[in-house]
Amino acid sequence: MLGGVEAGFVYQRDGHPNADVLAEKCRRLHGAAHAAVTSSGMSALSLAMLAFLKPGDHVLLSSRLYGKTVSLVGQEGSRWGIVTTQVDMLDPARVQQAVTPRTRMIIVETISNPTLQVVDIGALAAVGKAAGALLLVDNTFASPAVCQPLKLGADLVLESLTKIMNGHSDVVLGLLCGSQSVDWTRVPGVLGCWGMTSCPWACWVCERGLMTLPVRLQAACRTAAEVATGLRNHPQLRGIDYPGLEGHPQHRIARNQFLPAGDPMFGHVVTFHLKGGLQAATRWMAELEGIEYCTSLGEAATTLSHPASSSHRACTAGELSAAGIDGGTIRLSAGLESPEFVLESLKLALARLD
Ligand SMILES: *Cc1c(COP(=O)(O)O)cnc(C)c1O
Repeated sequence: MLGGVEAGFVYQRDGHPNADVLAEKCRRLHGAAHAAVTSSGMSALSLAMLAFLKPGDHVLLSSRLYGKTVSLVGQEGSRWGIVTTQVDMLDPARVQQAVTPRTRMIIVETISNPTLQVVDIGALAAVGKAAGALLLVDNTFASPAVCQPLKLGADLVLESLTKIMNGHSDVVLGLLCGSQSVDWTRVPGVLGCWGMTSCPWACWVCERGLMTLPVRLQAACRTAAEVATGLRNHPQLRGIDYPGLEGHPQHRIARNQFLPAGDPMFGHVVTFHLKGGLQAATRWMAELEGIEYCTSLGEAATTLSHPASSSHRACTAGELSAAGIDGGTIRLSAGLESPEFVLESLKLALARLD
């Protein structure tokens, strides 16, 4: 087995059956040719960099990315000779203009955090293909129940399994999937060498979480949609971001890309912007009964987070306003309570702000 003659497992760090079973299930969910499970979402991104990039390569980063993604590829990557440019991926023509002869990867999120913009994956895949660059899509806010980026032309898809995929906030795990067009030969060796291997117990727990993914997603997306619709014109709010609302700037793209085709779900996350800023946001969260504050997302319970003081706390005032966030911005991750309960709870607490 150590010589690679016979298949099997020798040492947990180089691979174990629970990771393979979980990776195979995720591979099928994404219609992927390849899949690997790693110790976290961040290590899945490290794996993509270490397996597919080399010093001197240029990477295009979306201007709306998970903060640690920018830290990893931008800051850490620069120590290893990776050059990055941030670009607004809502406009594929601008991405095209930012391509250089050394561009080897384009990194984007299906649904961005926290203002929930939706990119045109097919159009970005075309730009990547013409440039000879891999399109890597972080699909954490969607999951394969809502979007399958590889089927839309992406080369690599990443999930933080920690979130809605596992769905019970009790493990940290990541996933990297690749399409048929990707040369996967380096991946297993890189994963073991750099020690990014997952915990077998966590894989077993996540496999159990995945069994209920479709029903959890249906329930959570329905609640998110009802909350977005129910609070759309609320006098305490200056706006709501939800791709399922007709007025959302990329509603049409979301409708075309999201699943089930024809009658799609639009995700389990909704973002509110309170007119009263930080003060109103603080009071709203304090007044809420039955919905807890939590910076993560994709749990069995509905949770709220406050981007300006958590995920985006390192941003300057200018960066915050460019991202469409202020102290009154609150992100909701719908869980499995009834939509009526969640909506009522939010409304009651909003009424106390008057
Ligand atoms: C949480 C998250 C990650 C990182 O995943 P971990 O499992 O926490 O390492 C990456 N991208 C997005 C969009 C996330 O929400």
